[in-house]
Amino acid sequence: TDTVWSVEDSLNELEALARTAGAEVVGTMRQRLSHPDPATYLGKGRVQELSDAEMQLNCDLIIFDDELSPTQQHNLEKLLNARVVDRTALILDIFAQHARTREGILQVELAQLEYRLPRLSGQDLAFTRQAGGSRGATGGVGGAIGVRGPGETKLEIDRRRIRSRISELKENIEDVRKQRAIYRRQRSEQAIPVVAVVGYTNAGKSTLFNTLTEAGVLVENKLFATLDPVTRHIVLPNHQEILMTDTVGFIQKLPTKLIAAFRATLEEVVEADMLLEVVDVNHENAIEQSETVNEILEDLDALAKPRVTALNKMDLVDDPEDIDTSLYPNAVPVSALQNRGLDRLLHKVADVLADTMERVDVIIP
Ligand code: GDP
Repeated sequence: TDTVWSVEDSLNELEALARTAGAEVVGTMRQRLSHPDPATYLGKGRVQELSDAEMQLNCDLIIFDDELSPTQQHNLEKLLNARVVDRTALILDIFAQHARTREGILQVELAQLEYRLPRLSGQDLAFTRQAGGSRGATGGVGGAIGVRGPGETKLEIDRRRIRSRISELKENIEDVRKQRAIYRRQRSEQAIPVVAVVGYTNAGKSTLFNTLTEAGVLVENKLFATLDPVTRHIVLPNHQEILMTDTVGFIQKLPTKLIAAFRATLEEVVEADMLLEVVDVNHENAIEQSETVNEILEDLDALAKPRVTALNKMDLVDDPEDIDTSLYPNAVPVSALQNRGLDRLLHKVADVLADTMERVDVIIP
């Protein structure tokens, strides 16, 4: 997709992500760097320019689209006297806000700590080193005995705490996985089809979920005390019951370090009987976004699953004739915000699901 997405698109997406995270974007600065400065990422002149802009705009956070090394981030914060984060930190923040399944929450905390560990700085080392703490002098085997005692700096304590939390998290994640497998078996025994809601970040998935909740299509979850908080029990117009589950928004330029956390939150997609894709048809990159969704689904081996597409935000589209619905499988125009078209959408879900189940009946007599 790198050829389809320009620097401009990438920065626009960064802006959208920043808003999703709750920031107000007051300005952007564009620069393509072939050789970023190892100490400050930007060259001296650009740092000065950024510093001037920052004073003028009175902002307290600067977000870089590229990944910054711990040193670059630290130096920039000192030079600019503002918080500096990169795309990875921003996405982690969004994941943290959106993670609702137990495994998702654990995976995000793990990714956050792995991101933070090399970024812990030793700047206040001199002030926190406790009395008698010359580790160099004690050295050798003796230095490793009673690590907790005098001689360990605050930095070392922080690092040790984070490392031990990281191993704890990894164990917890394993446990959750095992439990999930048990729930899943129960679910498939109950034979209620699972529909996973997927889509690009900001397409309107949460809004759709909320509107369905307010419209009262949801059933009390008495039967399903074990459901994830993002899964709802719904009765379709043809009385077919389904479990509908929300997923984290897809993103085009996902930093590699976040893939594990992202995939973990997408386990529902792999397990689902059917997908409900939400597309923001009013977005200028709607088609590219949908292609990104397809690529991620292919990665997850879920591209062939039956799918219904909610062409969302139709209320913002001037001329509905302009939308090429044939680009999307089983498309239904809707406005999740204004509760329009959702009835038709649920009918379509029921039809496609009924179709799928018939086919399965034929294959397994
Ligand atoms: P998610 O990231 O896919 O969960 O997207 P959200 O549900 O958070 O929606 C992102 C933004 O789009 C929010 O500001 C919503 O109010 C807005 N939005 C969602 N659905 C619609 C819609 O049908 N029409 C309009 N105009 N805005 C919508």
